[in-house]
Amino acid sequence: MLYVLYGRNGEEMAQGALARLDAAGEIAALKKRRPLVAIKPNLVVAQPAEWGATTSPAVVRGVLRYLRENGITNLVIMESSWAGECTKQAFAACGYQELSSEFAVPLLDLKDEPAVPVLIAGMEIRICKAALQADYLINIPVLKVHCQTKLTCALKNLKGCIPDSEKRRFHREGLHRPIAALNQALKSHLVLVDALQGDLCHEEGGTPVRMDRIIAGRDPVLVDAYAAELLGFRTEEIPYISLAAQFGVGNACLAAEAVTELNNSSAAAGFPVDCSTGSMQRWISERQACSPCFGSLLHALQRFKEKGNLTSLPPVSVGQGFRGCRGQIGVGDCTAGFDSHVPGCPPKGREITEALEAWIGLDR
Ligand code: SF4
Repeated sequence: MLYVLYGRNGEEMAQGALARLDAAGEIAALKKRRPLVAIKPNLVVAQPAEWGATTSPAVVRGVLRYLRENGITNLVIMESSWAGECTKQAFAACGYQELSSEFAVPLLDLKDEPAVPVLIAGMEIRICKAALQADYLINIPVLKVHCQTKLTCALKNLKGCIPDSEKRRFHREGLHRPIAALNQALKSHLVLVDALQGDLCHEEGGTPVRMDRIIAGRDPVLVDAYAAELLGFRTEEIPYISLAAQFGVGNACLAAEAVTELNNSSAAAGFPVDCSTGSMQRWISERQACSPCFGSLLHALQRFKEKGNLTSLPPVSVGQGFRGCRGQIGVGDCTAGFDSHVPGCPPKGREITEALEAWIGLDR
């Protein structure tokens, strides 16, 4: 089961999503064993979350508050930024030193830690010992696009738990199989996706898009299957998702009943951050759009652009200002009066992509 919470207050949303995911009280029950709980954000580069690449400290603050309120005190925040980047600079630039002081939680730069070989899925992977020693791992990725694997979210976030030399080897080996195998060796007990703002095109940020939601689940494969669809991809386009399912990491079959929305997308109402819309502007007709809807449309148009199909589209309407209006083609339930519209509140990027492809006669 996945839970989705819309809004802008990352701290409150993280606490609310965790409370729902942990309704059975598993975390409070853990404290009797005094486990070491590791929090693994995505701090791939030394850039604040507004850049689109890194986990918002507000989301991690919400997780820390929830853990502390439930009696969990033995905590660590661990990360290794991408090869060549200084993790300590990333901790500083992304606001994690303040978190560390506020909650007295150590920041562990995994680049300084020894790694041990683990034989898994026919591969030998060197994994940082400190990550393997954690009793409970909370994986807090960012929802964003990756140039090589298309998606980076829960499964790929664990690449920050291996040495730089292994990261480079993963790239040489095409990423998909090593990522799936790594997740078999290193279990994410909880996943909380920071989808407040990710990136439209790049792992390292620079084209941020507001999606204004948090996704919570226990199964990183299911989380990534859902994340792929939000960004306009079919799950099959990201081989590491099905490979991870084959390796027994989780379930890649995304049934509609697997996702529960805990509030309404209008909780994120307001005009979206649109610094990435420049080249898309002529394909968007916007009136009072909620950012989750607008973000889904942007991702769908980017998928169109990558396939060279963007020029065949007319402007697509999105927003609450189109309620009761007539028009050619729109996105979201607010455009239900149009000749064609993509239902949903908000629809996923994949639903928009497929509907627009059908509309211009490109459906499979
Ligand atoms: S369909 Fe309308 S109300 Fe729903 S998310 Fe889109 S713009 Fe907002």
